[in-house]
Amino acid sequence: MASFDFIIIGSGILGTFHALHAARAGKRVLLLEKDNRPVGATVRNFGQVVPSGLSGRWYRYGRRSLELYREIQREYDITVRQNGSVYIASDADEWQLANELYDQRRADDYPCELWSKAQILAKYPALQPDYVQGGLVFPEEISVEPDLMIHRLITYLTTKYPNVTYRVNAAVIGCEPVSGGTTVCLANGERFQAQHVLVCNGSEFRLLYPDLFARSGLVVSKLQMMQTDPMPEVALPGNILTGLTIRRYESFAECPSYASLKTPDHLAELKKWGIHILFKQALDGSIILGDSHEYATATQTDDLGFDTRESINQLMIREASRIVTFPVYRIQRSWAGFYAQTPQEIFESDLENVHIITGIGGKGMTSSAGFSEAKMKDFI
Ligand SMILES: Cc1cc2nc3c(=O)[nH]c(=O)nc-3n(C[C@H](O)[C@H](O)[C@H](O)COP(=O)(O)OP(=O)(O)OC[C@H]3O[C@@H](n4cnc5c(N)ncnc54)[C@H](O)[C@@H]3O)c2cc1C
Repeated sequence: MASFDFIIIGSGILGTFHALHAARAGKRVLLLEKDNRPVGATVRNFGQVVPSGLSGRWYRYGRRSLELYREIQREYDITVRQNGSVYIASDADEWQLANELYDQRRADDYPCELWSKAQILAKYPALQPDYVQGGLVFPEEISVEPDLMIHRLITYLTTKYPNVTYRVNAAVIGCEPVSGGTTVCLANGERFQAQHVLVCNGSEFRLLYPDLFARSGLVVSKLQMMQTDPMPEVALPGNILTGLTIRRYESFAECPSYASLKTPDHLAELKKWGIHILFKQALDGSIILGDSHEYATATQTDDLGFDTRESINQLMIREASRIVTFPVYRIQRSWAGFYAQTPQEIFESDLENVHIITGIGGKGMTSSAGFSEAKMKDFI
């Protein structure tokens, strides 16, 4: 039976970056993916790498991730673009929070700028003037193309490191402890052995440890996303985050005035569906916009449905039309993405030599690279 130092189950962003850090340490790694290619949250998102929205250690992992993404991009094109992030405040409360986060981020030397309404409209003429009060800009933040990045990252990983083996169509259905390690069993009957097994299964809770996941407190969030027709005439560079995002992200929730923040009536229906509006222009000029949030426990994920609710899409289009001047209703496609989350920031469980790491929530594209680098130090 083939034997490795590490078997990593799941080639989403979390599994792949764990594999990369193990490979960099010279370990023999087997990365296993149940599908033809990763098609989970890692390819369905915005691709915004925004440490500015995070707090505590996740903010620090996010900053380290920026360095790691750039480092890899210098060697191989994984679609990193450094166009910065901007939070557009639409009223006095949001502007106050933007000012408070600006003070905090400056205090820990994270490059950021406060821009007036005139500056914002000069740089982003596609924004509705009535919406903009001012903007908080993080010029060093990056974006990636989610449907390309993970595939290129895996190509980079397997090309650069001959000590990595990658297998697709490799659903793992069992892990059995053996002396000095674990045997991993695939659905097709193949078996592999490793000293350490890392389970980075995203929101798949049925193939492995279903009872443990049923008790875990993990919740799955369903997000609706849309993409417009290509609009090369629109210039919307970078990560565009708007007023409802300021009202939602944890970094702003730590600012002094957050406790007294009230929800204006016109935002109540949007908040009910967990809607906040973000924009990301894709390489072909189309605009990705979203998102909404619905929740189910780990055992009830089917209740989230396989469709997207048109009423939620319409709410998002209506709010987006208040923010930008281009025709956001020209939607070419919409989809749902699902991620696992937990109140404990991330879910980790150690079973002898099997280590489960999932539930990174909405921060995976931003913080997985830095988090997995720190995490691998536990094993190496
Ligand atoms: C719509 C949307 C927008 C988002 N926007 C952003 C953003 O802009 N910025 C940001 O930082 N984050 C964002 N996120 C969050 C981010 O996408 C997730 O945090 C991240 O992708 C989670 O990665 P993962 O590797 O844990 O899970 P996944 O991407 O789901 O990967 C898990 C992989 O494990 C495989 N797998 C599971 N079980 C097995 C098994 N038994 N055997 C073999 N393989 C298995 C699955 O097939 C899958 O490929 C967004 C998420 C969504 C859904």
